[in-house]
Amino acid sequence: MTVQEFFRKIFFIEILKGLSLTLSRLFTKPVTRRYPKQKRPAALGFRGLHALVRNPATGDVKCVGCGLCAAICPSRCIYIYTSEGPEHQKIVDRYEIEVLRCVYCAFCVEACPFGAIVLTPHYEYANYRREDFYMTKEKLLENWDKYMGDKGLDYFDKFWNPKSSHFTTPEGQAVWRHKDG
Ligand code: SF4
Ligand code: SF4
Repeated sequence: MTVQEFFRKIFFIEILKGLSLTLSRLFTKPVTRRYPKQKRPAALGFRGLHALVRNPATGDVKCVGCGLCAAICPSRCIYIYTSEGPEHQKIVDRYEIEVLRCVYCAFCVEACPFGAIVLTPHYEYANYRREDFYMTKEKLLENWDKYMGDKGLDYFDKFWNPKSSHFTTPEGQAVWRHKDG
């Protein structure tokens, strides 16, 4: 033990330093909040409760039932049931998420090519029954209306990256384009 360490020990320097820090904080404004009375709004991009994006044109889900989100989900907690529509398009009959198994990785959001699923900033959904954590398509659409709605555009325009406009095609490469544009 060095002389310096010896004096630090016998004069309780570390304890005095700790006490002085405590005393210096006694009269400052507390940084803790009295949750749930005081709440801090979660930032856009917070990985909270899931929602399915509502297509404003149809009022139904924007999801096309491609299944990429379910395929990438490491918890295997997304279930999608589709059927064939009159024009041979896929109809999403059921879209379900077992929220209790989710690890909030947001891979589903990243994988979705249509921006059809999001994790909302809502985090206060503690409950007593397992069934309340089983999200159906209807509940997921409700979550969009309740917790994203107008904020949803900000989520995709200002927060979410990469955007489809970020992807460019190398010159000369054949690309698929819609016949109207
Ligand atoms: S956040 Fe991750 S674990 Fe949760 S549903 Fe999406 S992909 Fe699955
Ligand atoms: S990846 Fe997107 S469009 Fe495809 S099934 Fe999932 S939510 Fe629907």
